[in-house]
Amino acid sequence: MAKTVLVSGGAGYIGSHVTVELFAAGYEVVVADNMSNCDLTCFNGVKKITGREDIPFYEIDCCDYAAVNRLFDEQKIDAVIHFAAFKAVGESVAEPLMYYRNNLVSFLNILEAAKNHGGCNVLFSSSATVYGEAENLPVTEKTPRLPATSPYGNTKTMCEDILRDTVRATETIKGIALRYFNPIGAHPSALIGELPRGVPNNLVPFITQTAIGKRECLSIFGNDYPTEDGTCLRDYIDIVDLAKAHVAAVSRMLDGRMKEGYEIFNVGTGRPVSVQELVDAFEKVNDLKLNYKIAPRRPGDVVAIWADTTLANEELGWKAERTIEETLASAWAWEKSLAGK
Ligand code: UDP
Repeated sequence: MAKTVLVSGGAGYIGSHVTVELFAAGYEVVVADNMSNCDLTCFNGVKKITGREDIPFYEIDCCDYAAVNRLFDEQKIDAVIHFAAFKAVGESVAEPLMYYRNNLVSFLNILEAAKNHGGCNVLFSSSATVYGEAENLPVTEKTPRLPATSPYGNTKTMCEDILRDTVRATETIKGIALRYFNPIGAHPSALIGELPRGVPNNLVPFITQTAIGKRECLSIFGNDYPTEDGTCLRDYIDIVDLAKAHVAAVSRMLDGRMKEGYEIFNVGTGRPVSVQELVDAFEKVNDLKLNYKIAPRRPGDVVAIWADTTLANEELGWKAERTIEETLASAWAWEKSLAGK
């Protein structure tokens, strides 16, 4: 019998790509999403890519304990991948209570329901934001976490700790936190991808929307940082590679290959890329000119962060494979496909 994975937030950007890769690896998937930050575009795309019209879909809010509990009553869940969370850094500064309530309560509910149904394997979607402005680069999983600079970042640190402590106290719950660097790009089919609401905060959606004419001009936030070209360095990880890391982590849990009850892995490429390099690569690979200007630094941005991926490479047997060019071409193909919709 195929094992079943619950993907909370499964209709969103990362969740939809992970759902596709889980099916490809032979798992069954149940999707839960409250549709607060997406529409059905990606879920429908997942159905098309996988040829599965019958994916169980629960339109529920994970902050509603009764609803989460009912889902666990109705489905036999072997593992949960928890994506259901708010993710806009700036908004979290303006609306801290909304962020703490949503991101913490939904995760607590998932863990509580899992515990009350005989336990579960839980994969939490964490972020490199927990490292803050690290002193030594690249960061390994042992690099100390720094106090978060936003309520959003705080919820990631707190949820990691909630998972760690729950695993410690609950024999039937195992956990993995994946710390993502900067996920970008789209599925090669261009049927699923990132669908930002309103003005995008993240670099690549802003680039593609500028290229297609939805935005007038990209602002590069600062070119006076202490880096080679003066712009910030990040580790941009292809969304399909990122999705495959989830499959590797879930298999490790389900096949009993974990070395500890709670484990953490960085998910990145291990390669730093500057904002300017990314913009140049986008122009080159897609053969177009982007309207951009240098603007002041964005408050809260770290200068540089990239991953040491040795642990994920060795323990998960996973490695980022797509080149930045392929990824940027996929992001552009997705933006163009949206224009046709
Ligand atoms: N960035 C930029 N212009 C934008 C959006 C982002 O120059 O319109 C820069 C930002 O300053 C950072 C990098 O792109 O150096 C990645 O930002 P993003 O918000 O995508 O991810 P973050 O690393 O902040 O989570």
